[in-house]
Amino acid sequence: MFEYKHIDSDGKNIDLPVGKVVCVGRNYLQHIKELDNEVPSEPLLFNKPSSALSVLNNPIVIPKNLGSCHNELEVAVLIKTRLCQSSIKEAEAAIWGVGLGLDLTLRDVQNALKKQGHPWERSKAFDRSCPMSQFVAKEKMKSLSNIDFSLSVNNEIRQQGNSQEMLFPILKLLVNISNTFTLLPGDIVMTGTPKGVAALVVDDQIIIELNEHFLIRTYVV
Ligand code: ZN
Repeated sequence: MFEYKHIDSDGKNIDLPVGKVVCVGRNYLQHIKELDNEVPSEPLLFNKPSSALSVLNNPIVIPKNLGSCHNELEVAVLIKTRLCQSSIKEAEAAIWGVGLGLDLTLRDVQNALKKQGHPWERSKAFDRSCPMSQFVAKEKMKSLSNIDFSLSVNNEIRQQGNSQEMLFPILKLLVNISNTFTLLPGDIVMTGTPKGVAALVVDDQIIIELNEHFLIRTYVV
């Protein structure tokens, strides 16, 4: 396995350290409904450590014998400057760019943890639980509020999302997060998954697309 580094759309290394990943749960209404969860009044946050990151272009490694491992494809935001209790303006200025990440989730483990009222890390923060794409520089993105993305599994569209469907849009999320966790250069924010979460199995053929920017073909091992 290659060590994870942030890379840009030309495949070059981005000169930022690899930091934590702050994840947002329940940010798309249709996904909240499919898992029968409650609509949150403020963003639901959890973290993945930097050791969870892997390169999305490589085969996706899922844990074995721990029940189902679900896909959650999400818009990922790479942070370039420190953000603490920030304004919307500061949040916008702190974004290096945008990519796509998978928040791999051991759903059976998570359901058991939820029942016990325990934290979710065992189901979401394990090694390689966060395969990450290259990042498109913010200057190359037309808008943060109209990012179109999709996941196909074995040539069938499984998840299709647009950032305009987020309950808490990207800049508001960064402001909210930075009131709890200081975001540091090289941190990534995962902005929640649209509907279509389901189990991945070995040999699944995966296509992940950030509309107008990139398409990644990979598979599950
Ligand atoms: Zn997620």
